[in-house]
Amino acid sequence: MATEKTEMILGTRNHGKIAEFRSLFKGMHIKLLSFYDFPEVPPVVEDGKTFQQNAAKKAKSIAKATGRIAVSDDSGLEVDFLDAVPGVYSARFAGEKATDRDNARKVLKMLDGVPWDKRTARFVCVICASTSRGKTVYAEGTCTGKISFEMRGSHGFGYDPIFIPDGYQLTMAEMEPELKNKISHRADAMKNFRKVLKGFLDSRKK
Ligand code: IMP
Repeated sequence: MATEKTEMILGTRNHGKIAEFRSLFKGMHIKLLSFYDFPEVPPVVEDGKTFQQNAAKKAKSIAKATGRIAVSDDSGLEVDFLDAVPGVYSARFAGEKATDRDNARKVLKMLDGVPWDKRTARFVCVICASTSRGKTVYAEGTCTGKISFEMRGSHGFGYDPIFIPDGYQLTMAEMEPELKNKISHRADAMKNFRKVLKGFLDSRKK
């Protein structure tokens, strides 16, 4: 007799992320739902001081509201010369109504005159899964690189036009999406998440 699939809710309204998660969970005995299946669940305010806190806050509150396992992620850019800023403020670095270009421009301005070898940075992504009773599991992923001297490229989003991953000369916004999705912080976090997920799902039944 076939066992029932475990239902999991993705705590995001971003279609790109939903597609990435779908491919991650391929072949696992999981039925994926998204925020769109639960329009009554209110959005969560991301006011944590770390990526872990934000990812956990989202996953825990969605799991509690729906009675199912929820998975959320939080990500951003850390620039070494700026003491890991913009970090958790990545989405609103240049102000609440700032565009992606405003945010990227602000980073370039703050690095004005900073030489190439001091422009090191990394994208970080933390994924958290939570049960409705608040039991959690985490996975982290990174993509290291440098901040370019000017914006280049039109693919992607966020800080992609100013981020050059180690081992490449292109910014992430100049790469084909297939390449970005292979080397990104999200891909790394998802790979690590897949390693811990089965243990988490099994331990939940004990
Ligand atoms: P989120 O937590 O995935 O929504 O990301 C928060 C912010 O971090 C975004 O609004 C972007 O500014 C930045 N960010 C996260 N991932 C990426 C990426 O893959 N490329 C460029 N910027 C990113």
